[in-house]
Amino acid sequence: MNDIVSLNLEDQIGLLEKKEISSYELTSLYLENIKENKDLNCFISLNENALEQAKVIDNLKDRQSPVQGIPIAHKDIFCVKGHKTTCGSKMLENFISPYSSTVFEKLDNSKTIMLGKTNMDEFAMGSSNETSFFGKVKNPINPLKSPGGSSGGSAAAVKANLCAFATGTDTGGSIRQPASFCGITGIKPTYGRVSRWGMIAFASSLDQAGIFAKSALDSAIALEIISGFDEKDSTSINSKVPNLKEETISNMEHSIGVPMEIIEKIEDVNVKNNFLESIKILEKNGFKTKQIELPFLDYSLPSYYVIAPAECSANLSRYDGIKFGYRCDNPRDLEDLYVRTRSEGFGEEVKKRILIGTYCLSAGYFNAYYLKAQKIRAMITESFKNAFKNVSVIAMPTCSNGAFELGSIQDPVKMYEQDIYTIPANLAGLPAISIPSGYTEEMPLGLQFIGNHLEEGKILNISHQFQKLTDHHV
Ligand code: GLN
Repeated sequence: MNDIVSLNLEDQIGLLEKKEISSYELTSLYLENIKENKDLNCFISLNENALEQAKVIDNLKDRQSPVQGIPIAHKDIFCVKGHKTTCGSKMLENFISPYSSTVFEKLDNSKTIMLGKTNMDEFAMGSSNETSFFGKVKNPINPLKSPGGSSGGSAAAVKANLCAFATGTDTGGSIRQPASFCGITGIKPTYGRVSRWGMIAFASSLDQAGIFAKSALDSAIALEIISGFDEKDSTSINSKVPNLKEETISNMEHSIGVPMEIIEKIEDVNVKNNFLESIKILEKNGFKTKQIELPFLDYSLPSYYVIAPAECSANLSRYDGIKFGYRCDNPRDLEDLYVRTRSEGFGEEVKKRILIGTYCLSAGYFNAYYLKAQKIRAMITESFKNAFKNVSVIAMPTCSNGAFELGSIQDPVKMYEQDIYTIPANLAGLPAISIPSGYTEEMPLGLQFIGNHLEEGKILNISHQFQKLTDHHV
């Protein structure tokens, strides 16, 4: 019976449809597994009403959505009315949201069961899940290793069969890098494809919600549900959402762009060879590849680490001890309240980002840092535009390494380098996916496909075809 939790989403849907299992039974199995794997620290809070909700759903006459009765997990960055939403921070340790995010609502209206909210780096800043106020998450493949970040709790939960699929967010790589570290599939759609309403803001021009699942096909089913225009998010794209499942399994031809100049510079031979082998598999099976140039890629990391902190310094100014969350004890006056609340409520990484961001935006430095970073961002976007004139998708590794040992990266710049291959897609607002492609020192590696604007279907399709040719994802 317990094998059921390790089935992919498609198979679980089949069992529910044929009434071979109830949502109540499925939810109980997942809750049991969550209890058994408490040490992984994947969840910040559990939904005490999950079983009750499953019972109600089991009593519905018809199936109203493909994922009806499926138990899932939400990154603790998505507001859920009446439920704690901490964003991994002491600042919001006891914050109960008065309203729900669109992502949660869409999945709730589709009759999924929320098992709980997953652990994450504080305010989604980090690449290892070590900045969470609620403690680090362990990688289910090897508990001494990091699951990646910032959505490490969601990635580890999917890998350890603690939910059927999970939501996450990706500002600079926070879905793809943990997906790669945990050996699962993670997709970040086009900026604006999924509403950001009720998703706690880090860097608003980069933040995008997405999905962790066991395969590209499972991700397509879940992503389609959370996608779509939302008038409550002014950056939401008013464009019809295609049938992503159909696009994923359809017979598409691809011309795959490979930025060889970047690949040649990869230092880790395992990562480099694994990528080249993946490309070989695709070529052997009739896919055309083409060398492309992405000349401004070297500058994407520095420009991200100006833009993201700048936006974060503005977004996080709302946590002032008056309106939201934590407030220091016995403030002497208003100034003391602000200073102590923010000093005590935020962790070190978040404070560092606020300081960097405030500096970059201050008079006299704005042009030199923020404006320059925005110019580089425009050039990166342009270089992708040119590349997509000749290719349908672009392939790159997800990360320059496999999962590292928890606590082993102390140098912040080394940690920021985790995002070197993921950040470009965020800066250009493009959809990107990470799928398992093999191993280095017994830890998984990820293959990344980047698509053109609104072409999630193409990257899901090539990923599905790769997953049919390989068994790294099972
Ligand atoms: N690791 C990156 C950072 O710390 C990306 C985080 C994210 O995508 N939320 O900014």
